Amino acid sequence: MTTLLYTHPACLEHDPGPHHPESPERLRAVLAALDAPEFAPLERREAPEAALDDIARAHSRGFVERLLAAVPVAGHASIDADTVLSPQSGEAALRAAGAVVAAVDAVVAGQADNAFCAVRPPGHHAEPGRAMGFCLFNNVAIGALRARAVHGLARVAVIDFDVHHGNGTQARFADDPSLFYASTHQSPLYPGTGSASETGVGNIVNVPLPPMAGSAEFRQGVSREILPALDRFRPEMVLISAGFDAHKRDPLAQLMLDESDYAWVTEELIEIARRHARGRLVSTLEGGYDLAALAASAAVHVGALMAA
Ligand SMILES: [Zn+2]
Repeated sequence: MTTLLYTHPACLEHDPGPHHPESPERLRAVLAALDAPEFAPLERREAPEAALDDIARAHSRGFVERLLAAVPVAGHASIDADTVLSPQSGEAALRAAGAVVAAVDAVVAGQADNAFCAVRPPGHHAEPGRAMGFCLFNNVAIGALRARAVHGLARVAVIDFDVHHGNGTQARFADDPSLFYASTHQSPLYPGTGSASETGVGNIVNVPLPPMAGSAEFRQGVSREILPALDRFRPEMVLISAGFDAHKRDPLAQLMLDESDYAWVTEELIEIARRHARGRLVSTLEGGYDLAALAASAAVHVGALMAA
């Protein structure tokens, strides 16, 4: 048994423009870290393009068609001030979503214990009818809905430790008791959602953390709020929105986590998956904007998955 690594060169070609924090260099840094000898046992697979039917479980078809039609032949096309398309953005978005779909299929089929999707653009801000916040398609939601619709899993959980709240995932999950979404995030911060009072149909757990909160507050929130709720929910599969921008070196936010916190939370979620989901776990990259912190954090995260 093994850990799968899904990625694709097209994910390096999505270019939101010069000086944009969500740069191709992010993924290059993660992949360089995962080239170290200790990651040789990873089974590397090319991310396929997601099918429209898979994307359409998380988004309206009209939105998907409009987004793909807006991809420019040359230059850039802006969706909003933060979210910009370049000629390769359509393929990158399809492969980022397709990575999570393929990882879900492989893990459910028992081809591996777990998987990490090293992809961009990220996904957790993308709402059912709107791309925003560097995100085009909601990769993790597309994967979770695939697990439920195609593999018949009764309960699927997404845990999101990106420093920003995953408003898109919450929006898609909030009225569906077979789905669960939990997030730790800085508040106040973009996108402004994610207060503890947003609980969906009892399937949403938000743990907002004040600026400058660090390991103690993060671990306490996960231990007291999220892990007990996961035990009650009993997920048949665990997906992770793995953003590493709560790291103390990240330039976009003011939380104070370090690599040891990412190792810790990964091990806790592996334990949840082992207890309820036969170990089935799929993680996908979201944010993380300090290249060195991102690379080191992704490395300990994937290292913990490999040790599961
Ligand atoms: Zn983020």
